[in-house]
Amino acid sequence: MKIGILGGGQLGRMLIQNALNYDDEWFTIDPSEDAPCAGISDFTQGNFNEYDQVFDFGKGKDVVSIEIEHVNVDALLELQKCGIKVIPSPEIIETIQQKILQKEFYKKHGIPSPDFQIIQNKSECSFPLPFVQKMNTGGYDGKGVQVIKTKEDLAKLWNVPSVLENLVDIEKELSIIVAKNENGETKTFPVTEMVADPKLNLLDFNICPADISNDVQDQIHKIAGQFIQAADSPGLFAIELFLDKAGKVWVNETAPRLHNSGHQTQEGNANSQFEQFYRVLKNLPLADTEATCFSGMLNLVGEENFRGKVKYEGIDEVLKLPKTYVHLYGKTETKPGRKMGHINVLADSREALLEKLIHIKSLVKVIS
Ligand code: ADP
Repeated sequence: MKIGILGGGQLGRMLIQNALNYDDEWFTIDPSEDAPCAGISDFTQGNFNEYDQVFDFGKGKDVVSIEIEHVNVDALLELQKCGIKVIPSPEIIETIQQKILQKEFYKKHGIPSPDFQIIQNKSECSFPLPFVQKMNTGGYDGKGVQVIKTKEDLAKLWNVPSVLENLVDIEKELSIIVAKNENGETKTFPVTEMVADPKLNLLDFNICPADISNDVQDQIHKIAGQFIQAADSPGLFAIELFLDKAGKVWVNETAPRLHNSGHQTQEGNANSQFEQFYRVLKNLPLADTEATCFSGMLNLVGEENFRGKVKYEGIDEVLKLPKTYVHLYGKTETKPGRKMGHINVLADSREALLEKLIHIKSLVKVIS
């Protein structure tokens, strides 16, 4: 099968890496000539936001999919009309691209998501403090999101179409990945905790399975079921969640694609999110997602103040550790905050896993 992916980043790279177990032809398009997928697929340097470029790229493929949601949806709709399979549906991509549509979607389908107000400009703001402002479009990796706590903060409001959202008193940030194939079969991965504890300097890691009560599990599985039914599309979706201090789960946002919160499935589960997504694209029976032990992931992110040809300091020490797996994304240049790779670790208990993650974090640095 000829499979085309819009975006040529690390998510596409790990998808293709896994899919080389099977026989398909892989095509990717990305603006950056040294994108992580460039060397491992039939690569087009181009802009996945441009109608003509997406349409031309998709023509002649059996399936077109995405590894980033900021793509030209009109071209995907046209490709679909031409009989090309597009996964996930252009409609759900469009809903997710715009925070306003996304929030309205949750409300319409009774999916719990923090209360909100939609504004077209800042003069419309009448939402009670404190709240979070999220730009309708253009936000990514925490950009386009700001907390407004006090009256004085109101002066900082961005004057753009936005969602103003109730500030949740967060106990934990969680994620569940759910997949559906065209036959209508669905499967979830175990709930993962996304840990960000500035005191321990433990930013950027995942722990799976999450340490949560049965009641919280039930709330999350109900949400995943509601979401996948409402989305009405094959695909693999990562639903990012907040557990508040009162024990209630809220949807933060959903990614209609492979996700950072699922990277530890590469070694921690019977099958990875990449295998699952491959099966979705080919409408194959969905894979067993069982966790085989405690698993965790640490992002390898470019250190502050380093730019240029990347060096992974301490990686030899990491490679000496048991049940520890290094994944690099083929990016030659580091810059502050750039995701360059990740390390997965396995352990027999949550405590042992945390200890290992903290140890690895202290060993490794992404510098130039
Ligand atoms: P992005 O898509 O850019 O990652 P998010 O919407 O996930 O942006 O927000 C980034 C972070 O901001 C979240 O991980 C969370 O820590 C915080 N945040 C977002 N919305 C809320 C909210 N309603 N209440 C409290 N914290 C929030």
